Amino acid sequence: MTHDELLDRYAELTVRAGLNVAKGQEVLITAPIEAVPLVRRITVHAYKAGATLVTTLYNDEQNTLARYVHGADASFDTAPAWLFNGMAEAFRGGAARLGIIGEDPALLSGQDTEKVARANRARSTAYRPALELITGFAINWCIISCATPAWAKSVFPELPPAEGLAALWRAIFKCTRADLADPVGAWEAHSKALRARTDRLNARRYKALKYRGPGTDLTIGLVDNHIWCGGASTARNGIVCNPNIPSEEVFTMPHRERVDGTVSATKPLSYQGSFIEGIRVRFENGRIVEAHADKGLDVFRKMIETDEGAARLGEVALVPHSSPIAASGIIFNETLFDENAASHIAVGQAYSQNLRNAHEMSKEQKQAAGANSSLIHVDWMIGSGQIDIDGVTADGTAEPLMRQGEWAA
Ligand code: ZN
Ligand code: ZN
Repeated sequence: MTHDELLDRYAELTVRAGLNVAKGQEVLITAPIEAVPLVRRITVHAYKAGATLVTTLYNDEQNTLARYVHGADASFDTAPAWLFNGMAEAFRGGAARLGIIGEDPALLSGQDTEKVARANRARSTAYRPALELITGFAINWCIISCATPAWAKSVFPELPPAEGLAALWRAIFKCTRADLADPVGAWEAHSKALRARTDRLNARRYKALKYRGPGTDLTIGLVDNHIWCGGASTARNGIVCNPNIPSEEVFTMPHRERVDGTVSATKPLSYQGSFIEGIRVRFENGRIVEAHADKGLDVFRKMIETDEGAARLGEVALVPHSSPIAASGIIFNETLFDENAASHIAVGQAYSQNLRNAHEMSKEQKQAAGANSSLIHVDWMIGSGQIDIDGVTADGTAEPLMRQGEWAA
């Protein structure tokens, strides 16, 4: 298949399996400007699926950088709330949401971390109402990726630019199953397999997960009425979507006060344009009380100091070490891919879909149930082929869940 044919299949997969655009629905896309050829194909498939209006907001990284180089100090406490409020209004009106990522993972690594943190805080605060509609699944949504020269350079620094870009596209098509004969059918089968896994986990009602491995001895308590999710999700508008392409994880809600022990990250974390490597932290009663990193500790500290919930967990996810993303052997420097290469945890905001009846609960009730709340949600990888995980049942029995990074049962 030619690149154009693969790109077209990927676009169709995004519209049909990712978003599952409904007849009469609007679609709101955000994308890097380098994604124009992909967005054009997605737009065609969205209209073919019956979309009434497809609107794309493009982002240019050179302009992001210009702000750090030339922007006035007050710039870093400013965010386009008017734009985000408009997005929230679109979601309330039923628009589907497609996010296309492909940013340079190291774009802001040379910039003042204080300014980066301020800009992120301003943005997160302004974006929150729109984000809550997305994370609360008010509408069908999906995040996919687009290979860009800067991202490809960070993944394949040793290759000439054109070869690196082609290699990243090949990896994207492979990891998303877009290169198979029937990508949409392949996603249906994959979703079914993930559903079988979540059904089994939901039936076990574990009260905690126990992790053991090099530099890791961690217990993560789960909220009592937790729900394991993975693969396709049914949004509250009734549409079944695949929120992440690719996705290999099953995930649920940790209790914000019941995490204890030490854990070491198994891959570098790319956060808002900087790399954090060799993270080791200790939790006490759910909170990070000690943090170390070989590189980027300053950025990591600022991240977990964003607010009260930023030093507590909002997600715990299990991914077998043999996942296609892990098998690719590539470190993508991008969470959408890397989180599907290894079991992970996320500090910050919890997902309502992981707590039974969360939509009928007040903020206080959710917090009392153990749901974490924060402006941030950042995943980091703690799984590898050397990690063993047990599920602890209500009576305290520990059952093997993963051994050497693979499902044990
Ligand atoms: Zn996850
Ligand atoms: Zn996450």
